[in-house]
Amino acid sequence: MMKIFSLIFLLFGLQVVASVSCDELNRLWKDKYYDEFHIAWEKQEFSCPSDLARIVESFYYLENIKFRANNSGYAPDYYTWIKETVPGFTYEKKDSNFPDLDVIASSCRGCMITLFDIFAKDTDVMSRVRTIIHEGRHTQLNDPGHSNCTKGAMKGKYACDNEFVSSGWGGSGYNYGFRFLWWLHDSSYGHDLARETARYKMQWSITNRFNHVSNEEVRMFSK
Ligand SMILES: [Zn+2]
Repeated sequence: MMKIFSLIFLLFGLQVVASVSCDELNRLWKDKYYDEFHIAWEKQEFSCPSDLARIVESFYYLENIKFRANNSGYAPDYYTWIKETVPGFTYEKKDSNFPDLDVIASSCRGCMITLFDIFAKDTDVMSRVRTIIHEGRHTQLNDPGHSNCTKGAMKGKYACDNEFVSSGWGGSGYNYGFRFLWWLHDSSYGHDLARETARYKMQWSITNRFNHVSNEEVRMFSK
């Protein structure tokens, strides 16, 4: 059976300053994240900054970005969702299936998430968190997957969700990534630089990542 891979590519690289010590990241990795996220490579200590430190920092922010609840009293808990959804994480230098492409991460329905070198070198931690959420969606059996983009900057590439889903948890990875940015921008505590970056990324995504999106929705996120 053909395995369907979903890939995301490097687009942005803006910096967000970490506010957790290297010792604390090492402790969390050793005592908590390594097991909770079913890491499939050997457990080891790391220095900061380093590729592994940036991976662990992504888990730290996944756990520690908190959102104000909406009018229905709901706020997403991405940490628990990833922990309970994703079968595990692997790491490779480069995707041997696509050696000529700058692939950040990949996964498929029921599969582990593979993080590549380029993920670990991305200095924008919110971008890394969003990648994990995007790929997390691909590990779910009901993920509809991506479509060829019919318009915008990615036209002709297999790099869009067919439909923009403005409420609930529908769509594929780009909807999930977009929704994370939306929560980050509107309802997160602190992370001011990340919130501004989120606005810019939402503006770009709404016009380039969805084949079916209303003009009203485009306007709403283009302000
Ligand atoms: Zn994807």
